[in-house]
Amino acid sequence: MDEGFEITQGDENSSVILHVPHSSTRIPADVRAGIVLSDAELDQELLRITDSFTDKVAAVAANASSSTPWIFRNDLSRLVIDPERFTDEREEMLAVGMGAVYTRTSQKQPLRDETIFQPGSPAWNELIDTYFTPYTRALQQLVNERLEACGEVTIIDMHSFPSSALPYELHADLSRPEICIGTDDFHTPDDLTKKIAEAFTSFGTVGINEPFIGTYVPLEQYGTDQRVRSVMIEIRRDLYMDEAAGEARGEVIEALGEKLRIALAGF
Ligand SMILES: [Zn+2]
Repeated sequence: MDEGFEITQGDENSSVILHVPHSSTRIPADVRAGIVLSDAELDQELLRITDSFTDKVAAVAANASSSTPWIFRNDLSRLVIDPERFTDEREEMLAVGMGAVYTRTSQKQPLRDETIFQPGSPAWNELIDTYFTPYTRALQQLVNERLEACGEVTIIDMHSFPSSALPYELHADLSRPEICIGTDDFHTPDDLTKKIAEAFTSFGTVGINEPFIGTYVPLEQYGTDQRVRSVMIEIRRDLYMDEAAGEARGEVIEALGEKLRIALAGF
């Protein structure tokens, strides 16, 4: 069944969820039909926009952990829907055509026909109903289950970013350290940020909320329930892959997964 996401079960006593929203390049054929790029242009855009191999880093960390965290992985490209965007006017990326359903590429070129895929339109609703809502509902359910079982949850929001800023980025003036930790004032306790920062400092330069800000929190607990903790880890891609060819440096991915395992020990 094509649910568009995949949950890898962790230990019953693990309160950690590794969320991997942007690692896939898969686009169903009917969704592809609504994208105006040629196949070659689409391949290029996927290379720019996909957080390639972040699922591998998560898997390395999970497999090596004594208490196995849960993994919630998007099995579709973010060009289908972006599960981390708001679907309403709260979404600042809507201004550059990159809300929950992108209408612009990272190069600010047309990705979908903006007159057809406006928020609230039938085509937009279909993507939201088919992919966005089931995804966010299942992730919310997993968070609620872990909360029930453990009394707290720690979400690790796994991303990566290109070494050079893409035209769509709203905060492209910020510096680009090798590791970026995104935090939320309410949901990211200092000790969590510190542990992640310490684990990765030996690996490269670490920045807090630069060049990317914030982390994912499901809506039911957003701003109200501090038992749901969340932190984002963004890895600069040149650390672990050839960005132009899309090829991984496997030994670096192993090392990053090991750093993540160390950071999560005790959470
Ligand atoms: Zn991402």
